[in-house]
Amino acid sequence: MKSGICFIISAPSGAGKSSLIRSFLSTKYGLNSTVSVSYTTRKIRNGEKEGKHYYFISKKKFENMIKKNLFLEYATVFNHYYGTSRVLTETVLKQGKDVFLDIDWQGAQQVRNIFSPVVSIFIFPPSKKELYQRLKKRGQNTTIDIENRMKKSVLEMNHYNEYDYIIINDDFYQAISDLKSIVISYRLSLHYQQWKKYHFIQSLICK
Ligand code: 5GP
Repeated sequence: MKSGICFIISAPSGAGKSSLIRSFLSTKYGLNSTVSVSYTTRKIRNGEKEGKHYYFISKKKFENMIKKNLFLEYATVFNHYYGTSRVLTETVLKQGKDVFLDIDWQGAQQVRNIFSPVVSIFIFPPSKKELYQRLKKRGQNTTIDIENRMKKSVLEMNHYNEYDYIIINDDFYQAISDLKSIVISYRLSLHYQQWKKYHFIQSLICK
């Protein structure tokens, strides 16, 4: 049976995870991978595109999707719903492609109980000060929103030890290189190769 690997990437808002994932996917190591587009009830920001950054839907529609069990996972973040489509994720994995989920710690906890293999990576910003500056520079949040996001980021960072890997996004190019190393390393691990290349290995080791 074909199955890709589910990579979960979590980080406090503003730590740069979306840019990291996008840059990784544009390298040769990201060729057979895709990033999942989540559903959210938050408002669309300047520069964001429907279907590229998120599917922006109403609270009513989101709650309807919850009732129909259409989410692989969902959570309330900053007073808005965010969720990952079950069918889209499962379809990609069944095609043998790796999928990257840009989700928070609550979603990560749910997904770890559903899929195998799942590899989870937590991204730290270089400092709280830098995180604050990055949120401010984005110009997409009000001051109150930024203060709120800073408080939530401390909560989010307290879950770092539930993850398999840690990257500190101080130097962007180093962080991409770290992400590449993690992905390649997992793709080559005994656990994964033994399962993915089962028939090939058997053909070599059977007498
Ligand atoms: P933002 O509003 O800045 O795009 O995202 C806020 C937070 O929601 C980020 O930490 C992001 O990882 C998280 N998030 C985005 N999509 C999902 C999702 O589908 N599920 C969960 N649990 N969190 C999500």
